[in-house]
Amino acid sequence: MAKRVSRRKIKIHNQYTYEQAADALGVTVQTVRMWRQSGLPVLDSQKPHLILGFALKDYLNERWVKPKRRLAPDQFLCMTWNAPRRAYGGMAEYLPCTAARGRLEALCEDCQGVCGKFASPSLCKQLAPILTIATRNRKCPQKEPCEPSVNHNFRTSTESVGIIGRKQANGQRYKDKTA
Ligand SMILES: [Zn+2]
Repeated sequence: MAKRVSRRKIKIHNQYTYEQAADALGVTVQTVRMWRQSGLPVLDSQKPHLILGFALKDYLNERWVKPKRRLAPDQFLCMTWNAPRRAYGGMAEYLPCTAARGRLEALCEDCQGVCGKFASPSLCKQLAPILTIATRNRKCPQKEPCEPSVNHNFRTSTESVGIIGRKQANGQRYKDKTA
């Protein structure tokens, strides 16, 4: 179940038999049949049954990312999808907390909400080829010294609303930095 599936191969305007969907995704036909049992909409009025590409994609998008959220170095945890996403526009902002540690924030490529993770100057350096990183002098918002904590990445819903509300300002700020 934790197998990685390449959802990009699914074309939303195509229709798939179980076999074709399995092929495209690199899973077994059994797996695709199981998805049907757990809610994947299937056109079953005639044989072979057909799965609409967009339904399949929706289904996978909804459930797939949950099992593990290992973030690639250039990924952030999106609060909206609770899933790894890349940075919008390939831009991020580094907020130093100590000399060695800080927080990397970016706008989600999907929903453009703010997402962030712990980072270090050396991680920023590694990411420089793929991310434009602006360093802010603003202190890391945490009062405690920055240590990875479970709660830090999971803001309360009211906080998230505030953050998303700020996205305009944020976008502006990014623009200024790169201009
Ligand atoms: Zn997002």
